[in-house]
Amino acid sequence: MTLPEKMKKFELVRPGYVRFSESNLPKMGPDDVLIKVDYAGLCRTMVTLVDGGADVRYPITLGDEVAGTVVDSGENVHSGRGMVDWLEGDAVIVPPTWAKCIDLDNDGNVYHIDREKSCVACLEDDNARCKSQYSLAHNVQGSFAEYMVVHRKAVFGYDRDKLEPDKACIIGDMLGTSYNAVFNVAKIQKGQNVAIIGSGGQGMGAIANCKLAGADKIVAVDIDDSKLAAAREIGATSTINSKTVKKASDAIKKELNYNVHAVIDCIGVPETIRTGYDAVSTRGILTLVGFLKEDVSLPLYETMAKGKKIDGVWSGQLQDYRKVIGAAEDGKYNFDAMIGTVFDFEQTGKAINALRANKVFRKAVIRVNKDLPVTRENRFS
Ligand SMILES: [Zn+2]
Ligand SMILES: [Zn+2]
Repeated sequence: MTLPEKMKKFELVRPGYVRFSESNLPKMGPDDVLIKVDYAGLCRTMVTLVDGGADVRYPITLGDEVAGTVVDSGENVHSGRGMVDWLEGDAVIVPPTWAKCIDLDNDGNVYHIDREKSCVACLEDDNARCKSQYSLAHNVQGSFAEYMVVHRKAVFGYDRDKLEPDKACIIGDMLGTSYNAVFNVAKIQKGQNVAIIGSGGQGMGAIANCKLAGADKIVAVDIDDSKLAAAREIGATSTINSKTVKKASDAIKKELNYNVHAVIDCIGVPETIRTGYDAVSTRGILTLVGFLKEDVSLPLYETMAKGKKIDGVWSGQLQDYRKVIGAAEDGKYNFDAMIGTVFDFEQTGKAINALRANKVFRKAVIRVNKDLPVTRENRFS
């Protein structure tokens, strides 16, 4: 394939200052894969980064979700040493983070490069919390670019005949992170009751994954009725508009017959965290998803007296991505209900501002590769 010499990317130069810039295509190392970006997903973390809410390696290309096409790869990628093999033209997605300690074999199974040197998290199969983590749009250039370079172990294939790229681009963070929250942290089992606070990107993902896990009652909590309508289409069995009730935690308990196995909070402000902690039943778990900044005060007495647990996630486990992609290809997620506004690549700055102002409909995606047909009507103008 003949590649252009230059590409466009959308980068954060310093907090509050973003720009499009032109550069050479990124250079590959021997273990890297060069990906042409088809679609990128937009999540709230990008708003946080633009607003200076996290330390990143400036200047950094934003974007932590992607569906793309492999266009080239480094010399070790096809070495036949039990590493995942990528060929030109393969359709792929990338998780937002990946661990240094581990690698994947050709079947996608995780193995330790050197157990002696693995961090504690990776040894416990919790590589989403690796001590030496690579993270898109933080210390690795992100997906708001025409091309990106990613280590081969952070590349997962999908079947283009079963899944279009405008859907696949939300697997990396939205579905992969919430899969980790639902299956590994909250450990939702068939027949359990769960409340999801927030029906934005991660909230929609958590609802979809709770449905996949076979949860019995799934109650979605938000202050926006249009988001609650999306929640119902995706799998919520009931909804609570928390603006219309006296105390949201009481409303959750009542709705779930005082049997609340888990609350998954996808908002991350003191008020919603307190609501979630108050609502979970004895031995239940409050799971925090996303990017938390503020300190929270909680009556931890209940953790001793009732065994209420608190845990959280901010990305997915590499060993789960094949399962998430498989579920997506098998039609287990209602993508048409999840995906909302479609932005063109030139509108990336507008997209971030629209998300900050809550003017994005459901999950926003960015069409980076303009050669792809426009498949959705709700385009931003
Ligand atoms: Zn994200
Ligand atoms: Zn590690």
